[in-house]
Amino acid sequence: MIITIDGPAGSGKSTVARRLAQRLGFRFLNTGAMYRAIALKCVRDATDLDDFDAVVACARMASVTFEGDRPHLDGEDVSDALRTEPVSAAASRVAVNPQVRDLLVSLQRAAAEGHEVVTEGRDQGTIVFPDAAVKIFLTASAETRAARRYAELAAIEGHPPDDVTYAGVLAQIRDRDERDGNRPIAPLKPAPDAIAFDTSEITVDEAVDLLERFVRERI
Ligand code: C5P
Repeated sequence: MIITIDGPAGSGKSTVARRLAQRLGFRFLNTGAMYRAIALKCVRDATDLDDFDAVVACARMASVTFEGDRPHLDGEDVSDALRTEPVSAAASRVAVNPQVRDLLVSLQRAAAEGHEVVTEGRDQGTIVFPDAAVKIFLTASAETRAARRYAELAAIEGHPPDDVTYAGVLAQIRDRDERDGNRPIAPLKPAPDAIAFDTSEITVDEAVDLLERFVRERI
């Protein structure tokens, strides 16, 4: 059985999906981390992100795996490296590449084969798992999402980030929304049969409880 959770950056979907998977005893598939890992490899290799063929070549060379929930690139644990702002911005740029998407969609389907899975991303309910048993679309206002992201960056660094402001994070979020929502392939949008939840006014704990109740009623 597959449960998809799609939504924009900062809607809380990764955290909610991970915890929902734990509660249900399902596998958790973090597809955003896959795009981020390809982006990190391209950034490290100084690949021109506008050069489609070079990005595809970089993606083909990358080994993206998970140990538990921790993403690895070419055998290295890159959990923290994937959360930085340059990698976030680069991820939404490599994600417009159709061949990179094909590659990762195949990996995602292979990872889910024969398992009970909660998967999160942008296109999980629309493209990757159109027959999923339950489809959820998580949203929140851009301001709420930017505030969460800013707090997350501060938590990683242990203090308010030196080089990033809340306004800067908000601008980045809007930029990514624009790119993810308007790209021709797999744009961010709810599947017709997805149920939308707005997490602007609730905590992550409340969102997990809400979704667990919702999912259990349906499975
Ligand atoms: O969800 P997260 O912020 O980690 O995703 C990083 C980027 O990867 C997104 O901005 C989006 O461009 C891309 N992505 C995607 N399809 C997915 C998951 C992520 O295009 N299924």
